[in-house]
Amino acid sequence: SRTPLTLLGTGTMGTALARAWLAAGHPVTVWNRTPARAEALAAEGATVAASVAQAVAANRLVVACLLDDTSVGEALSDADLSGRDLVDLTTGTPAQGRARAAWAKARGARFLDAGIMAVPPMIGSPDSGAFVFYSGSAALFEECRDVLAVPAGTRYVGTDPGFAALHDVALLSAMYGMFGGVTHAFALIRREDIAPRDFAPLLVSWLTAMAPAALETADRLESGDYTKNVVSNLAMQVAGNATFLRTADEQGVSQELLRPYFDLMERRLADGHGDEDTTGVVDLLGR
Ligand code: NDP
Repeated sequence: SRTPLTLLGTGTMGTALARAWLAAGHPVTVWNRTPARAEALAAEGATVAASVAQAVAANRLVVACLLDDTSVGEALSDADLSGRDLVDLTTGTPAQGRARAAWAKARGARFLDAGIMAVPPMIGSPDSGAFVFYSGSAALFEECRDVLAVPAGTRYVGTDPGFAALHDVALLSAMYGMFGGVTHAFALIRREDIAPRDFAPLLVSWLTAMAPAALETADRLESGDYTKNVVSNLAMQVAGNATFLRTADEQGVSQELLRPYFDLMERRLADGHGDEDTTGVVDLLGR
């Protein structure tokens, strides 16, 4: 079925979302602060609203994909949201999601916060693995899930409107840890006669093989027994840290990416947890 919707923000991501909905036959009204940036979509069948008020008035379902949470507040400051369903695909923090939910409710709108786990080229391709976390109104999610599923897969993570952002940021934080490790690895090899293009597939298969370790960590966190099924204990791992740091020195590479994590491992070992793996570092970071 065709669900008409309004999209606020036709930046790189917003444009990709609009194209996916248009391609699937959903009527889309778009608004962008800089009107020129919405023009290309008019040629593809979108209706370009002259003002945010007009855009919000056009459809019950209003999707926002703006730069940050401040932009959402600014763009919608004078809009009449009563009777509207606002889905906020703008990246933000959990607290911003909760505050935006209360703000929307006070204006008479139902609200879903969302976190997009994709880059724009992945939008609208069912096989890309792209998906979006949603949290907030369960009724709104149920009513809109089909149209929301057009640009990317959907994953509803609860009524707490902060949970979409929390899941989004947690996954992206893990990604940055991985990028940091990849950066260090390339720095180690770059002065040698090893081609980055030959090395990269090795990195990918190793990281892929190691990723399921997160499942074991989850198991230990839930059982509270951090020594459960440990194959590489912390005492052994910390003894190995010296090898990593010395190799960095030998290759003339800064230790600054590895150091913070190693420092935490060493603190946990010093606290007497040599028979665990690295799960206890989660406790050191805070709870
Ligand atoms: P862009 O920088 O391409 O677009 C930003 C959009 O926000 C533009 O439409 C811009 O309007 C608008 N905007 C900025 N400030 C304001 C404001 N004060 N009032 C009204 N509109 C404003 O960013 P993206 O489209 O890439 O990103 C949009 C959201 O999607 C972000 O929250 C981002 O984190 C998220 N996202 C992006 C990904 C990506 O890879 N691109 C991946 C996952 C999530 P104008 O044209 O007038 O400047």
